[in-house]
Amino acid sequence: MIIVLKSTASEEQIQHIVESIESWGMTPNLSRGTERTIIGVIGDERTIRTKPLEVFPGVDSVMSVLKPYKLASAEFQADRTRITLPPVKAGEEATVIGGKDIVVVAGPCSVESKDSLHEVARVVKEGGAKLLRAGAFKPRTSPYSFQGLGVEGLRYLAEVREAVGIPIITEVMDTRDVEMVAEVADVLQIGARNTQNFNLLKVVGRSKKPVLIKRGISGTIEELLMSAEYVMSEGNANVILCERGIRTFEKATRNTLDISAVPVIKRESHLPVMVDPSHGCGQWDLVSPLAKAAVAVGADGVMVEVHPCPEEALSDGGQALLPKTFEKMMSELKRVAESVDRSI
Ligand code: PEP
Ligand code: MN
Repeated sequence: MIIVLKSTASEEQIQHIVESIESWGMTPNLSRGTERTIIGVIGDERTIRTKPLEVFPGVDSVMSVLKPYKLASAEFQADRTRITLPPVKAGEEATVIGGKDIVVVAGPCSVESKDSLHEVARVVKEGGAKLLRAGAFKPRTSPYSFQGLGVEGLRYLAEVREAVGIPIITEVMDTRDVEMVAEVADVLQIGARNTQNFNLLKVVGRSKKPVLIKRGISGTIEELLMSAEYVMSEGNANVILCERGIRTFEKATRNTLDISAVPVIKRESHLPVMVDPSHGCGQWDLVSPLAKAAVAVGADGVMVEVHPCPEEALSDGGQALLPKTFEKMMSELKRVAESVDRSI
């Protein structure tokens, strides 16, 4: 249920509505936007349907939310969500995800060694990336593949974060690791294989750190939004959604990057949307064209894999950009961003 307030609604009237909703055992979610103020109501709709909300002073209209997700829904919040990451080093700029700037996230698939991580971090920061990506805990299809450096990898991430002054996004796979990963990460990543690990979503929902949720390998957009709802319903509103390709019958690429997911999610939700073309296609030479497409259709950010020597990468070498290809992609992305009234 959504209550749209009149622009003339007084604080007292708003308070009276909020308190009444609470007294009925429902949870009001007050959202003050630049153009309108709305109250989203969460709880058993059958209770509230019997209440004469329309006659409360200050109420303009009352609508039912037909979507299964509420907090993640565009109707539920007056303005788009912006997530601010404080700078690692005092004096540097904060990073805002969901604002006018397109946020580029770059780095290797996995943390492999401290030195290589340090080198990539420096290169991607110089190239304009605002976050460093790299997995310490890796969800690999085969148990015989490199599983990530785990806790040691997290330590390298923490050290490189400080040394280079770049925020970190890294994957958390296990509820038991959330606290430990959140101590290092600026953004927690939920991987495509864990998009519907509801216990994990609930635990990251109780963390204070922003969460990026990848779309499930065979997940629908609605399922992705329901995953966001899990995190938000636990109190963490700082959620970023990430399109990373889905499984289809097409074999030419690793996954099929669903570029239409970007405008669909932006229509249905107020949450920022990122695109990961690296996992979306699995081939380094397709990454840059798809990143440009992502920016053109309205993505708030792009996440790409970069490796100083892809043939030696311990995971996903075939889709990693060389530093010089990353730099070229960045200069092309800047032009696309300008053409859609954004900046990098
Ligand atoms: C990754 O980002 O390295 C990763 C494993 O991604 P996904 O969960 O999208 O496969
Ligand atoms: Mn990868």
